[in-house]
Amino acid sequence: MPRTPYIAANWKMNKTVAEAAEFIDTLLPRIAATQSDVVVCPPFTALTAVVERRYGTAVKVAAQNMHEESAGAFTGEVSAPMLVELDVEAVVLGHSERRQYFGETDEALARKVVAALAADLEPILCVGESEAARDGGETEEVLERQLQTDLGGVEGADLSRVVIAYEPVWAIGTGRTATAEQAQETCAFIRDVVRMRGGAADDLRILYGGSVKPANAAELLSQPDVDGALVGGAALDPEDFAGIVEAAG
Ligand code: PEP
Repeated sequence: MPRTPYIAANWKMNKTVAEAAEFIDTLLPRIAATQSDVVVCPPFTALTAVVERRYGTAVKVAAQNMHEESAGAFTGEVSAPMLVELDVEAVVLGHSERRQYFGETDEALARKVVAALAADLEPILCVGESEAARDGGETEEVLERQLQTDLGGVEGADLSRVVIAYEPVWAIGTGRTATAEQAQETCAFIRDVVRMRGGAADDLRILYGGSVKPANAAELLSQPDVDGALVGGAALDPEDFAGIVEAAG
């Protein structure tokens, strides 16, 4: 069965509640005919505003992070049950900004992926190599290490409940995009790693992220192993984001 395209908007630390509401009200009529999974990832403070507006539509809501424990003395953190209570369906885990600025480790991510799945939240697990690793020919080694550790607690059919976002660090927010060939080759490699772990790799959705825009989306999304996009900058504008959703068909 063909994989349903998956287009996600990562707003990062952008948009107040009022701005989030305005975005969703503009976006919904523009994407009414889409057959794709459309996911919006607002900051924690705007989750409820987006959840309430998307009821009855195809839009799913994802948080941008969560803690691996359900509750406890972790000041400033939010847990999977707290997100589920808000009717949030998914969570971004391991975004490179969290790895780089907040010390997110692969070991913590392995626990977060398990906790998200246990709470019935769809993990959107981000992996990707630095520019130095790509230039040094170490892309596959880096990705394999991230995937083996981050997915260490997930087996069998559960592997395809995870959405994987391939986000080369050198392409995030830089305006530099991986070529369609690079995106295809690397997403196919990721699928092979999951296949070797015993997952139903043909069901797994793998997204490309890194300076996706309406102008380059169609070419990237036409690659056989690129099942969608995780979009940052271009997802702040509802018209641009709708253009990317349209490109997915
Ligand atoms: C991202 O934040 O996940 C991302 C891919 O950002 P951008 O589209 O701005 O490169």
